[in-house]
Order: sequence, then structure tokens, then C-alpha cells
Amino acid sequence: AGKKKLEINSLMKNMRDLFSSEAILKGVDLSVELAEEELFIMAEENTVKQVLVNLLKNALEAVEGSGRTDGSVKIIAGRKADYALIRVIDNGIGIDEWCIEKIFTPFFTTKAEGTGIGLAISKQLIENHGGEMSVVSEFSSTTFTISLPTLL
Ligand code: ADP
Ligand code: MG
Repeated sequence: AGKKKLEINSLMKNMRDLFSSEAILKGVDLSVELAEEELFIMAEENTVKQVLVNLLKNALEAVEGSGRTDGSVKIIAGRKADYALIRVIDNGIGIDEWCIEKIFTPFFTTKAEGTGIGLAISKQLIENHGGEMSVVSEFSSTTFTISLPTLL
């Protein structure tokens, strides 16, 4: 319900517009690397935006939590076979091995004011759209990747 044809790079630009001033205020270098080609997905616009907002908020919070002065958040779009990929990469606090298995569990949070609901819902929403969400974290660099099937 409510699905329509969406273009990945225009979603990327939406996120840049939404987060660039917050990043500047927090002293975080936000960079957006667009896909080299137009990629179309069939999805609910607000759903996909909500997922990206969740990932970007987490990335900014991770950088803030690390206290580092060279914080950066990157969003990178690309394609792999029949999937559009969006990666959100930060150089914040990182995620411990014991923790990474729990982060998609509803209500798991390590934040004083956290709800622990963002990632659980986001992963479910992406899977409902035929995609996947995964995470890798090492040496305080954390990468969340979402894939969504492209329209041919
Ligand atoms: P919340 O942000 O309310 O804690 P989330 O579901 O968004 O809930 O995230 C769950 C947990 O996953 C966070 O509390 C944090 O421990 C971990 N996490 C998520 N994103 C990152 C990130 N980019 N860097 C480090 N830890 C993260
Ligand atoms: Mg969150």
C-alpha cells in the first residue's frame, strides 16, 4: 500500500538536506556519495526515509558519543546486481561484538535516553520491501548496509 517508484539519488539528496545543518552544528563531516546511475525502487517513500533517518541519527549519536573531533558520517549509494545499496558509515564509538548481535532486537539500547526501537523496526521494514539490512563494525568504524530490489 502506498508504494511508488522512487529514485535512490533523490532520497540521498533528501537526507543531505535534512541532516547537513545538524552535522555542521555538531562538527561532523557529512558526505553524500551518489550512485553513478539512476536506480529505481518500488517502496513507500516515508518508510524508506524513516529507515535512513534512523540510521543517520544513530551514526551522528555514535560520533557524538565518541567525543572525537574528526567525526564523519558518509552515506554511499550504489548498485549490486539487481539491488540498490545504501551504506551509512560512521567513525564513532563502534559496536562491541557482544552487542552487535542484539542491536536489531526490539528495545535493546545502550543509550540513557534510547528506546531501542529504531533498528528493529527499520530492519523489518526493509525486509518487508524484499531487501536486507546488515551491519559491520570494527576499529570504531561502523557500516550499516541496506539493499532493496531495483526496478528493471
Ligand atoms: P536507540 O538509538 O534508541 O538506542 P536503535 O534501535 O536505533 O535504538 O539502536 C540500538 C542500539 O544499537 C543503540 O543503542 C546502540 O548501542 C547500537 N547502535 C546503533 N547504531 C550504532 C552506530 N552507528 N554506532 C554504534 N552503535 C550503534
Ligand atoms: Mg536509534
